[in-house]
Amino acid sequence: MDIIQNLKNIRESVPENVALVAVSKTKPADMVKELYGVGQLDFGENKVQELVDKQQLLPETVRWHMIGHLQTNKVKFIAPFVHLVHGVDSLKLLRVINKEGEKNNRMIGCLFQMHIAREESKFGLDQNALEEILRSDEYHEMEYINIQGLMGMATFTDNSEVVRKEFKNLKRIFEEIKKEFFEEKPDFAILSMGMSDDYLIAIEEGSNMIRVGSSIFGRRNYA
Ligand SMILES: *Cc1c(COP(=O)(O)O)cnc(C)c1O
Repeated sequence: MDIIQNLKNIRESVPENVALVAVSKTKPADMVKELYGVGQLDFGENKVQELVDKQQLLPETVRWHMIGHLQTNKVKFIAPFVHLVHGVDSLKLLRVINKEGEKNNRMIGCLFQMHIAREESKFGLDQNALEEILRSDEYHEMEYINIQGLMGMATFTDNSEVVRKEFKNLKRIFEEIKKEFFEEKPDFAILSMGMSDDYLIAIEEGSNMIRVGSSIFGRRNYA
């Protein structure tokens, strides 16, 4: 498995404005080092412990993305260094991220995770719930979060039309939210959608950040 070649192939198949987060979950830190060595800076993990362990083994210039569900009691472990939290799906979690940001005297980059898939098991907000958060007084008082956009996952299916519709829907939500709540805030610019099996569709539908794991690192050893 030539992970450097895999990375290059993907990089060359997507437009330059699309950020590529290499999802290194379950893979050893040595593989992360290998890709870092050829200039890859963005890496994604979905477990706090694994994220912290790898962060300690890699240079500080690596940009760590927390792409999984984040429990409030674990925010403190990643707050000092995390680059972007992709899975913000409640005011409660945002409150804790803000508090930990304050403790560490840094703004923490966040994406709201939207529920766009058919499956019920996936985390995420619907548009109404997001708007409720964005209208709340508490949200407006938070000074240590930097909301940079939205993230979503499509249904796990071979039916690419279903996937495309879901991405289209997320792009629509992104544009509506941006217009209504972030007009004067250029930081709200990231639409994180697309994984190994669907990133080309995601980009066609407006993604500018893809999270790719198995197509770079090979299959993971769990279902
Ligand atoms: C694992 C994971 C990915 C990458 O999945 P692949 O299919 O291996 O590319 C992307 N996003 C999230 C949220 C993940 O948990």
